[in-house]
Amino acid sequence: MTLRYQHFITPEGTKEFPKVVRGEGVYIWDSTGRRLLDGSSGAISVNVGHAHPRVLEAMRDQMDRIIYAHSMRWDNDPNERLAARLERLSNWNYGAAFFVSGGSEANEAAIKFARQVAVARGQASRFKIISRIPSYHGATTALLGITGDPDYAAAYRPMFVEMPKIDAPLMYRRPAGESEQDVVDRCVRQLEETILREGPETILAFMIEPIGGVSTGALVSPDSYSTRIREICDRYGVMLIYDEIMSGAGRTGKFLAGHHWLDCRPDIVTLAKGVSGSYAPLGVVLASADMVQDVRRSGGFKHGHTYSANPVSCAASDMVLQVVEEDGLMERARTLGALIRSRLEEIKGKTGIIGDIRGLGLHMAVEIVADQVSKEPFPAEMRASERIGMICRDHGLLLFSRRTAGGSFGEWLMVCPPLTISEAEIEELIESFTAGIRAFEKEISA
Ligand code: PLP
Repeated sequence: MTLRYQHFITPEGTKEFPKVVRGEGVYIWDSTGRRLLDGSSGAISVNVGHAHPRVLEAMRDQMDRIIYAHSMRWDNDPNERLAARLERLSNWNYGAAFFVSGGSEANEAAIKFARQVAVARGQASRFKIISRIPSYHGATTALLGITGDPDYAAAYRPMFVEMPKIDAPLMYRRPAGESEQDVVDRCVRQLEETILREGPETILAFMIEPIGGVSTGALVSPDSYSTRIREICDRYGVMLIYDEIMSGAGRTGKFLAGHHWLDCRPDIVTLAKGVSGSYAPLGVVLASADMVQDVRRSGGFKHGHTYSANPVSCAASDMVLQVVEEDGLMERARTLGALIRSRLEEIKGKTGIIGDIRGLGLHMAVEIVADQVSKEPFPAEMRASERIGMICRDHGLLLFSRRTAGGSFGEWLMVCPPLTISEAEIEELIESFTAGIRAFEKEISA
């Protein structure tokens, strides 16, 4: 047996990954020369498409200057430029941006930072982080205790602390008889009850994806949700952390998904994926000025990585965000998102297997069901969303699929193309998706 990179992540007997060789705009090419439309932007992260000339130039320029200097000894220009841009775009008076190498690292840094703030404020008994089911917050051992998805945690259970969980406000799968308002009431009540049950003096933070990622299939909460959870957090001195790793950086039509509900300002925000358009590994923690001050006064943040604030990653990210701003990609996400949604609604009207279409901007999910009326998911062994994804691939379209643990929360395909997609490319995406859905329906009726 020869050593193969990442060969062990796929179960025995499954097909090998095709080999990718090139990317340009919304397309990638495999080693057989086949062109595929990247309908989920890689891991919902390639926000300005592949091989964007301005981003490549910014990276080359930085590489010619300096690629690496230890961030605990040196500052660098791209780091400062990016921090200033993030301060302006996030527009919520955050006092510091901390740069790491990805989403899990950003969330890990965020919870450690929150803990240090609490300790600095004489609240050392606070260490629990409440989160929601379903949710995904990252792959590190600490985050497995916060991620609300048993699929990821099962094998590692003895190795981490399971943190308290409450329901995410799932609208489509709400119990019969509950109104949207009832869902919000239930979820907010659960938050308060959980804080009281655990003891408010033990609760450090509440971490959520303000617009859900793959874990919920782009869940959008009703308007009152964010204001209500902010009130509860304030009442009990609990920090609110927004995990915007997937939803941030313009994808939903605003720089932060949280900006759709401006009256709820989170204390900490994490970003990754689209923030650097996946041109280079980068994660970001944005934190309130008063917290930063408290941590500095108590001796500074005891955290860092070799690649924190890497100059090439920061230069790539600064240019990606410049492109997002200058090319009006947030407005584009809103208009094109509305266009794709209306085209997906047309498809839904002509098929029996699309249950729900949700999301904001170019951050959308299509939930697949066996029955549109009962919302019954397909049996697990059919792996329906994965199969549809495979058929779409045969029709030239790449889509990320997800089936929640045991199918309990349903399954979906993420329709999240690069924000640079053209209207003609959207038509191509819709055509391939329609073909995929039709072929799957034919397959199951045969
Ligand atoms: N949080 C959310 C909402 C995510 O979607 C992800 C990745 O998909 C992560 C955290 C973890 O990010 P990474 O895979 O970069 O470690």
